[in-house]
Amino acid sequence: MKASNTSGWRPEMGIGGSAVPGAQTASGDYGLALEEPLIFELGAAGKCGVDFDEQDAEPSPGLARFLRKAPPALPGLTEPETVRHYTRLSRQNYAIDLGPFPLGSCTMKHNPRLNEKVARLPGFADIHPLQPHGTVRGAYETMAQLADWLTALTGMAAVALTPKAGAHGELCGLLCIRAAQEAKGDARQVVLVPESAHGTNPATAAFAGYRVENIPATADGRVDLGALKARLGPDVAGVMITNPNTCGLLEREMKAISDAVHAAGGYVYCDGANFNAIVGKVRPGDLGVDAMHINLHKTFSTPHGGGGPGSGPVVLSAALAPFAPLPFVTREAGGKVRLTEEEDAGADHPQSFGRMCAFHGQMGMFTRALTYILSHGADGLRQVAEDAVLNANYVLRSLEDVLDAPFAASGPCMHEALFSDADFGLGGLAEGFSTLDIAKGLIDEGFHPMTVYFPLVVHGAMLVEPTETESKAGLDRLIASMRSLAARARAGDEELKSAPHFAPRRRLDETQAARKPVLVWREPEGPD
Ligand SMILES: *Cc1c(COP(=O)(O)O)cnc(C)c1O
Repeated sequence: MKASNTSGWRPEMGIGGSAVPGAQTASGDYGLALEEPLIFELGAAGKCGVDFDEQDAEPSPGLARFLRKAPPALPGLTEPETVRHYTRLSRQNYAIDLGPFPLGSCTMKHNPRLNEKVARLPGFADIHPLQPHGTVRGAYETMAQLADWLTALTGMAAVALTPKAGAHGELCGLLCIRAAQEAKGDARQVVLVPESAHGTNPATAAFAGYRVENIPATADGRVDLGALKARLGPDVAGVMITNPNTCGLLEREMKAISDAVHAAGGYVYCDGANFNAIVGKVRPGDLGVDAMHINLHKTFSTPHGGGGPGSGPVVLSAALAPFAPLPFVTREAGGKVRLTEEEDAGADHPQSFGRMCAFHGQMGMFTRALTYILSHGADGLRQVAEDAVLNANYVLRSLEDVLDAPFAASGPCMHEALFSDADFGLGGLAEGFSTLDIAKGLIDEGFHPMTVYFPLVVHGAMLVEPTETESKAGLDRLIASMRSLAARARAGDEELKSAPHFAPRRRLDETQAARKPVLVWREPEGPD
């Protein structure tokens, strides 16, 4: 006989299951169902979490003008009221620590707690960027070790650690390309960006002052090499290729692309945010890449989104390395690590294009990423890529009979599986159902939705990135929920059109939310 457990939990409820009556979900795993007033609505004047001494002495005359005329407009709450408010709020949000977060291209993988333990060591957590150099040698050594790993894993000559996120890294790479071309007296104006590139690529190129031109995709979702070659010329500064691309596919012709771009005097920028799919397997340097950002917060598991800041180091080829931004760490003969400072730049690094930020970058992310790298080792990192790709292909093959998978016929995917809202042979999603309905339905099933309507190359895109940190059981629950949602859409279940039903909010007006966001609380006006 099956053993019963005392909590009343049954496997079909899924993890985090609750007893919402009348719910129609495959897993019984419901969205978050709390309402919470604003802290200003909870608070009352005169209440306070701490006791202040009575101030009866007059302030010294010089300070009197700084005295408040009116009490600050802060909510008054006791300490437990405050703690409970924020704890309840934290439960309204979805987090990678709560369940799968299959947001394509974002790589929401588990953040190992070992990383957190190391980042919190006082020698890392309590240092200041303006401390005397002699007192932060360990931090420089950590940065140098991370730099060694990143250049070894990518087969590149150098790395700029300072960029603070992927898009910031893209800007860093393009500024290196511009500096390299200007040094040759050959300023060029155009950057080519294929359709399958991440949206930040054309945005960065435009921000850096380049004219952006699109290169079409082939029918199998990759860069059209012929079209690219036809457009190359003396005005083209370079290309920005996302590899693996945003269709979750490897750009197999990368070496041919690089050779053609180099022959035309351009440089190759690779968007390496999806490096998690190929780390330990492919070295972008071998494919002719000149600059590539790595999202430490994706590939190397440092928390991001609501969980923490990003970090986007840029690896550089020997051709671009002299133009890297300051400051950076270098290893002297004998292994001693030194920080290349602005003051010695004239002698040391005369061609640097300048600085990306005031200090050294995201030190907390460097320690987390290096911890992750060292705890996996080279073999473990290769397995990260293999498992990420295996999980994505498991999702792709488990759903391709109920959702249109536009590129499934052209072979396995990399780290993410792409679906569209197109008809899928069996009659298609019933009239009036869309990708948005599947995504919102997923919230009721207890999952964060996948990336939707991106990439733009397919209609109504659903991009699912499971990452390597989900178990097969976890993937099976996600797949069961997505199959159930596809079936409900096909059966014309009108309830799905107003999902989510078990979240703190029903379906929002997406346009209003983007155009007229209400971000500030203002006290309602009184009767006078
Ligand atoms: C996430 C991502 C970026 C941008 O990285 P940020 O750290 O968010 O700036 C760029 N390209 C691709 C392919 C990405 O997935």
